[in-house]
Amino acid sequence: MADCVFCKIGAREIPAMVVYEDADIIAFRDIHPQAPAHILIITKRHAASLDEYATEDAALLGRLILAARQIARQEKLADRGYRIVVNCGEDGGQAVAHIHLHLLGGRPMNWPPG
Ligand code: 5GP
Ligand code: ZN
Repeated sequence: MADCVFCKIGAREIPAMVVYEDADIIAFRDIHPQAPAHILIITKRHAASLDEYATEDAALLGRLILAARQIARQEKLADRGYRIVVNCGEDGGQAVAHIHLHLLGGRPMNWPPG
């Protein structure tokens, strides 16, 4: 989508610290990290949120999670653990309207989330 910041990162039109990329997925460090490791994993194809995904997208969504797991290993988070978050919509606290997974690690996480 023309004005979407994450589409522009996916197209390499604006810079980001990319840690993983394949044909359909790109992952990069969050500009305002909430933990020592904070990485966003997105589909290059625009979708405003998880709510827009269809049953046919199950494989792509699965690959998004597997990419997060691979990055967690790459970032040496796997031994101590990490958290994956998907904010969806207003009450979910979603600020950027392009689906993304947050991978957070490097410190203990609290529960329940705020
Ligand atoms: P949300 O609240 O939508 O789940 O999270 C959006 C995240 O995107 C926030 O953590 C925010 O810091 C991050 N973010 C917003 N704009 C940019 C950007 O231009 N570059 C990067 N790397 N992260 C961004
Ligand atoms: Zn987009």
